[in-house]
Amino acid sequence: MQKTILVTGGAGYIGSHCAKLLSKKRFRVVVYDSLVRGYRDAVKYGEFFQGDIGDRASLDALFTSYPIDAVMHFAAFIAVGESVEKPDLYLTNNYEKTLVLLDAMAAHGVGKFIFSSTSALYGDPQYVPIDENHPLNPVNPYSRSKAQVEQTLREREASQGLQSVVFRYFNAAGADSEGELGERHDPETHLAPLVIRAALGAGKPLSIFGTDYDTPDGTCVRDYIHVNDLCSAHILGLEHLFAGRPSDVFNLGNGNGFSVKEIVATVEKITGKKVPCKYEARRAGDVSRLIANAEKAKRVLGWKTDYPDIRDIIGSALAFQKGRS
Ligand code: UDP
Repeated sequence: MQKTILVTGGAGYIGSHCAKLLSKKRFRVVVYDSLVRGYRDAVKYGEFFQGDIGDRASLDALFTSYPIDAVMHFAAFIAVGESVEKPDLYLTNNYEKTLVLLDAMAAHGVGKFIFSSTSALYGDPQYVPIDENHPLNPVNPYSRSKAQVEQTLREREASQGLQSVVFRYFNAAGADSEGELGERHDPETHLAPLVIRAALGAGKPLSIFGTDYDTPDGTCVRDYIHVNDLCSAHILGLEHLFAGRPSDVFNLGNGNGFSVKEIVATVEKITGKKVPCKYEARRAGDVSRLIANAEKAKRVLGWKTDYPDIRDIIGSALAFQKGRS
C-alpha cells in the first residue's frame, strides 16, 4: 500500500528536493512548513500544510488529517554564524520544537523518523575522513542543537521504541537537474551560491572567511555533496526502516575535500568569469576541515552517488542561479 510521508521543512532547500524524489518514487507526500524560511513556490510536489513544528495543535490537526507512516524532518535553522549570535534561537527552533514534533508523533502512533543531522557535530576532526565513530564535539549552537536531537532519538528508542535513521550531511550543494528547484536562502550564507552569484555579478564580492586554517591553502576544506544524492539516501533510509531494520546513523558525503579557494577556482573555470574576492577574518563557529567517510551508507543502505564530481555539483547550482538572475 502507498505510504504517506510527512516532510517537515519541505519548502526549504533539501526538503523540497526530497519531496520531489519521494513523489517520483510513488510515496504520498505531505509537506509541513511554517514558511518562515521556506518558499511556498518550492512546494511543487505533495500536499501542503502550513504550520510550525513547535505548534502542537497544528501538528495534531495534521496527524489527524493524514495517515502518516513516517516523518522526514528537515525543518531547522541552518546558519552556523547566526547560531553563534543567537544560540537560544537554535536551541528553541531546532531542539525544543523537535521535541514537540516527536511528542505529537508518539501521541498519534507514528514511530519512524528520518533526521537531518550535520557533520558539524564532529567539531575540528581528530582524523579525516571522518567515520560515524569519530567522537562528537559540537562546537557551535547549531551543531549542538543537532547533537541534542540525536541524543533524544536514542533515548526515545529505548523508552518508546521510536525508530530513526540519522543522516549527518557534509556540505549540501547543487540543484535539481530539471531546473525546478535549487538553493534559496535569505540571506544566503552558503559558499556555493555566494561564489556563483559573485561570478555572475548578481551578488556581492565573495568574502573568504579565514586564510590561516591548518589546511593546504589556509582556507576551510569541506566535502560537497549533491542535494539529489542526499535525497536518494533518504529514500533508502526510509526503505530501511519500513523493512524493519534497526535505527542507525550515516554520514553522507563524497569523501573529497575542497578548500574555499578551490571552489572559487572551480566556479571560475566553469563560468569563465573571475570571482571578485576579499579576505576576511574567520567566521565564528567554523571548523578547519570536514571530509566524510560515507562507506557505511554504501555498505548498509546500498547508497550510490550520482554526482561524485565537484564540477557537476557546481554546474547544477550554476544552472539554477542563472535561471534566477
Ligand atoms: N565561506 C566563506 N565565505 C562565505 C561563506 C562561506 O569563506 O561567504 C566558507 C565558510 O567559512 C566555510 C565554507 O565556506 O568554511 C562552507 O561554508 P557554508 O556556510 O557553505 O557551509 P557550512 O560548512 O558552514 O555548513
